[in-house]
Formats: sequence, structure tokens, C-alpha cells
Amino acid sequence: ILYFRENRKDMTQMRLRNITGSREMIAENSFCIHEPEKMKGKWKKDIFNNDNPVHIEIGSGKGRFITEIALKRCDIDYVGIEKYSSVLLRAVKKLGSMESAPENLVFIRMDAEYITDVFDSEEVDLIYLNFSDPWPKARHSKRRLPSAAFLDRYDRILKKDGHIEFKTDNRDLFDFAIDEAKAAGWKIDKVSYDLHNDDEMMRDNVMTEYEEKFSSAGNPIFKYIISR
Ligand code: SAM
Repeated sequence: ILYFRENRKDMTQMRLRNITGSREMIAENSFCIHEPEKMKGKWKKDIFNNDNPVHIEIGSGKGRFITEIALKRCDIDYVGIEKYSSVLLRAVKKLGSMESAPENLVFIRMDAEYITDVFDSEEVDLIYLNFSDPWPKARHSKRRLPSAAFLDRYDRILKKDGHIEFKTDNRDLFDFAIDEAKAAGWKIDKVSYDLHNDDEMMRDNVMTEYEEKFSSAGNPIFKYIISR
């Protein structure tokens, strides 16, 4: 309950810190794809100009994870998806200040509820969900990014052999996510209830902003990798 309260406080603060004009700034930003529905089925050809796998992060926040991983893996194309322009602005400002920003990374400001309008069937190879908002009230459970309602949307854009990787420090959300994945017929390929002490799953781990904050406060981090 305390975590839920803390988290709700975080979310409220994030929204209160809404930056005036951020929506307009995002609309003009060259790291963001505007009218992303027009790119449905064309991401490789029209945006990245290559045939590399496409990995997306839903709820990319201030963009630390996806920027770092894009710099490490030039053989993969990345799309960060974030609902709030004031949060996304932080990510694209960071990219703008880099001497050479990764060319294999773009962002979209959108609610992931409409993800199937933006990516075609089998257009995405991997989906990252990092420290998704827990939405603790039962009546909001469909808003949780690892819920069955969202898994159904991911199912419609993910390659047949594609994966979803989910990390959180919220045990209730993690238990919910495991139950939802199993009930929807997904295979749990890997699971850890203490990621930072799991040598195998930590091998290529890239930290997110929230992961840094919660793990340094002593919270264990939970992670699953699932596929169909
Ligand atoms: N992934 C980052 C990390 O681990 O540091 C940020 C985690 S933050 C708790 C969750 C982020 O997901 C927020 O930036 C929020 O705006 C975004 N988000 C929540 N629901 C979303 C949705 N339906 N579509 C897109 N982004 C969403």
C-alpha cells in the first residue's frame, strides 16, 4: 500500500510538472515520429531504411534505458513510446544534446492503447515494459501495461517468435502480470524475483531511471521474459 501511495505521488508530481508548450515542442521535434499511424507496416523501409529487428519500449519515460540500449546495439532499431509530452521532452532534449545521437532510435508520443494502429502484424520483434505504472485500483486493472487487455494488443504486432520483457519492483503488479500472461496462454521463458542477484539474467541488463532509484533503495527487482 505504501508503495502504491508513493507511486501515485510520483505520477501526480510528473503530471503537475507539465511543461507549458511541451506538446508543441514534441510535435516539431525531429527525434519524434508524427502521425505514426501513417508508418504502419513501413517502419523498416521508411523510418530506419534497413531490415534490422524492431524493438519497442512502452512507457519509456525520460528515455535512459532505450537511449543506452540503442547506443549499444546499432544492429537493432528502437522505438520509445511515451504517453506524456512533458516526460518525453526530457528524453528528446537529452538526445539533442548528444554529440552523435543514435540513428537507430525514434520516439512516439502516444497512449499505447492504440499501438495496433501504429504497428502492423509481426512488425515488432521485442517489447520492453519497464516499471509500468501499477494502477492499484481493481477498476483500473485494464490500464496496466502487462494486463491481458494489453497482451492482446501486443499479440497483434509482435513477430511469432517475439518476446516481451517486463521489469518492476512492484510485487503485486508482477504477480498480476504472471497470472495474466499464463491465463492468456503466454509461455514464461524466464523469471527472476531478484534480478540484480541473478547473474544469468543480469548479463545484458540496462538500467532504467526507476530501476536505479528502487534498487538503490534496497528493493528487489522482478523480471519476466514471455513468448507465445
Ligand atoms: N520506463 C521508465 C523507467 O523504468 O524509468 C519510466 C517508468 S514510469 C513509472 C512509467 C511511464 O510509462 C511513465 O512515463 C508513463 O507516462 C508511461 N505510460 C503509462 N501508461 C502509458 C501508456 N498507456 N502509453 C504510453 N506510456 C505510458
